[in-house]
Amino acid sequence: MIPPHRKSGDTNGHGDTAVHSTYPAKKSLGQNFLVDENIARKIVDTVSASPADSLVEIGPGKGALTGLLANTGARIVAIEKDGHLAEDLRTRFSGHPNVQIVSGDFLEYEFGDRTSPVKVVGNIPYNLTSRIISRLVDNREKIDSAVLMMQDEVASRLAGLPGTKEYGAISVRLQLVAAVEKLFLVSPGCFRPRPRVDSRLVQIVFQSRDPLKDEDGFVMFVKGAFGMRRKMFRHFVASRYGKGAIEILEDRFKTGRIETFAPDEIYSMFVLLEKHVRP
Ligand code: SAH
Repeated sequence: MIPPHRKSGDTNGHGDTAVHSTYPAKKSLGQNFLVDENIARKIVDTVSASPADSLVEIGPGKGALTGLLANTGARIVAIEKDGHLAEDLRTRFSGHPNVQIVSGDFLEYEFGDRTSPVKVVGNIPYNLTSRIISRLVDNREKIDSAVLMMQDEVASRLAGLPGTKEYGAISVRLQLVAAVEKLFLVSPGCFRPRPRVDSRLVQIVFQSRDPLKDEDGFVMFVKGAFGMRRKMFRHFVASRYGKGAIEILEDRFKTGRIETFAPDEIYSMFVLLEKHVRP
């Protein structure tokens, strides 16, 4: 029998994979729960976890991914901000020693000391995507890769290439240290409630774990430069470092725009310019 709080159309064949909470979805927490089992399976296949892996799941919600991830035998830490959902999940996974439910904010989660890097996975709250990406980049030393469901438009920005309108500060920051791949598109109908945008699965594989020189300074530099993306890059350089600094740039960087330069070129210029003003 279908409980009174569930409409019959809502079951969608996922009866045994999700916790059916009576609480209405919270928009402020970006709650759009995945109800399509095929998509859930494809996400978990992309993670390709084995019992030797440690996973961190961001926002497990009603457990659409958690259940399938648990079956891989991997160790899972799932961080859920909604206390009610976290409690339901804890009950549901109490018999799974490999699953730990943390009730809290992923943005404050400490990856801690680990012997091997973790794999991150999540159908994340879309309003926090940039902050989650920043957090992952900051902790990349402890992260192997991330498989994340996000708004399609944001996926295009993360993977955006120089010379395109999608290329921006976040593309540079992420691509400098990771390979970013856009995977499949997911329609709003695969979620309840339906999001107003298309979604896409993105895979991020961290490649460079070395710390950058003055990482915060670099982030400010890139944001500032893209704030003037339609102007020649030298105008930004003059405004930040003084007119004299333009002379140390290679010619093509004097006449080009930031949006046409590759992430590693932008980083090299940052290092060069900083050295020029603070030798
Ligand atoms: N992964 C689930 C839920 C996706 S909805 C599924 O696929 O069905 C996004 C989830 O992230 C919600 O459960 C929401 O409560 C949770 N969430 C929102 N902000 C969060 C934060 N800062 N830290 C951890 N979880 C968060």
